[in-house]
Amino acid sequence: MTHDAQPQASHFIDGAYAEDPAGAEMAVIYPATGDRIATLHEATPALVERALASAKAAQPAWAAMSGMERGRILRRAADIIRERNRALSELETLDTGKPLQETLVADATSGADALEYFGGLAAGLTGEHIPLANGDWAYTRREPLGVCVGIGAWNYPTQIACWKAAPALAVGNAMVFKPSETTPLSTLKLAEILTEAGLPPGVFNVVQGAGEVGAALVTDPRVAKVSLTGSVPTGQKVYAAAAAEMKHVTMELGGKSPMLVFDDADLDNAVSGAILGNFYSSGQICTNGTRVFVQRGIKEAFLARLAERLSGAVMGDPLDEATNFGPMVSEGQMNIVLNYVAKGVEEGARLVTGGQRADRPGFFVEPTVFADVADDMVIAREEIFGPVMCVLDFDTEEEAMARANATEYGLAAGVFTRDIQRAHRVAAGFEAGTCWINSYNDAPVEVPFGGTKMSGVGRENGHAAIEHYSALKSVYVRMGDVDAPF
Ligand code: NDP
Repeated sequence: MTHDAQPQASHFIDGAYAEDPAGAEMAVIYPATGDRIATLHEATPALVERALASAKAAQPAWAAMSGMERGRILRRAADIIRERNRALSELETLDTGKPLQETLVADATSGADALEYFGGLAAGLTGEHIPLANGDWAYTRREPLGVCVGIGAWNYPTQIACWKAAPALAVGNAMVFKPSETTPLSTLKLAEILTEAGLPPGVFNVVQGAGEVGAALVTDPRVAKVSLTGSVPTGQKVYAAAAAEMKHVTMELGGKSPMLVFDDADLDNAVSGAILGNFYSSGQICTNGTRVFVQRGIKEAFLARLAERLSGAVMGDPLDEATNFGPMVSEGQMNIVLNYVAKGVEEGARLVTGGQRADRPGFFVEPTVFADVADDMVIAREEIFGPVMCVLDFDTEEEAMARANATEYGLAAGVFTRDIQRAHRVAAGFEAGTCWINSYNDAPVEVPFGGTKMSGVGRENGHAAIEHYSALKSVYVRMGDVDAPF
């Protein structure tokens, strides 16, 4: 990584890097070795104030630009990201521990997709003309909300920032973004690139810190909307805080998603789906299909094929492109995962493979598969957010659907079957915001993404995201005289 691939300071405010050493130290750790790779500082209240004030000041002029002009800047930023994909991917790998093999194709590039997509939509945001009686009419205006706050999780830092910033900025909002304190680096590069692409100072600011900095942003009266990607408990706190001032929210929270594999499925595709939906990013993906329901007749064949395929997992330095399985993002997350594995063994699930911390530096946990998992086991109910797959058996579609939906979560779900009618019936029956048929975990920017039940509210991506970053104003136009009773 070249030197200018590293961010130059902890925060990015009003078009420039900013630092205040009075803020508490934040160590940035490379999860593959445990080495400290950077030291940042949390934002002090003075810096949070600067970030909000500059966003508030910059937003009206940004909104007054034409959608065409705003879109051009976002699309230019997408081009720069693609040109620098390798350096950005290396930074993301150092920050998260995810293999470069993944970050090269799934992080900065998906952020660029979002900027390109919403940049393209920006000029096409129009209102409606509504004809009324007596020649009167009304029209609607789609207006920005003002200053939006984005708060990110640590698993996809660049993607999360772009999925929030791109629609927000396309509509004419300003955004103050707080990345997870575990992965603070890449969002700073995004701010730098947006500025280079022509974004006016203040329209996208980044401040670092833990929950308190996030809370300070959420409760500020200048903020009109909060978009959070994080866990359910954090979502509940942030949603409640936002409700006090009736702020708009988007909540992208956790899940314990089901994947149904029927006995008529293409077994190799189903195994591939289960691998993608449990072990990509070492299992640190909110939509993962961690409850894999396999119809009893093919269960042993499924497990045998899975075991065969898992021998292809290559643990190593994530910066080596041959590595396809990286560490947990942090020591804390590794311990959470190992505790769940111990719990699974204690509850009597059959450990088919993995289950150990790998014998190497860093926070690696082996790809782990439990079979004979029962619905009431903790490992089948709680989000683990690590490389732990639970395989459950089922007999009938009806039974599988009831069990798949028996969860407080509703983020995602998948079905593998060759029966076209069953595929659509099952998709319609899933209580989940995002579903896949004969696939798992695809998230192209064109398709709305989000959860139901405790997994969240609102949608990112697709045209739907525009609605969550704008308000409709209706304007009634009288063409005749006003008839008053006195
Ligand atoms: P957390 O909920 O712990 O944190 C999310 C973000 O919220 C972090 O930036 C965190 O700061 C911040 N935060 C914490 N407390 C507050 C508060 N009171 N007010 C404002 N902000 C606060 O989640 P993780 O970072 O551990 O991420 C993992 C979780 O995210 C998983 O549950 C996963 O399912 C979910 N997720 C959901 C996705 C989706 O799209 N549905 C996608 C990816 C992950 P800090 O951590 O720096 O203290």
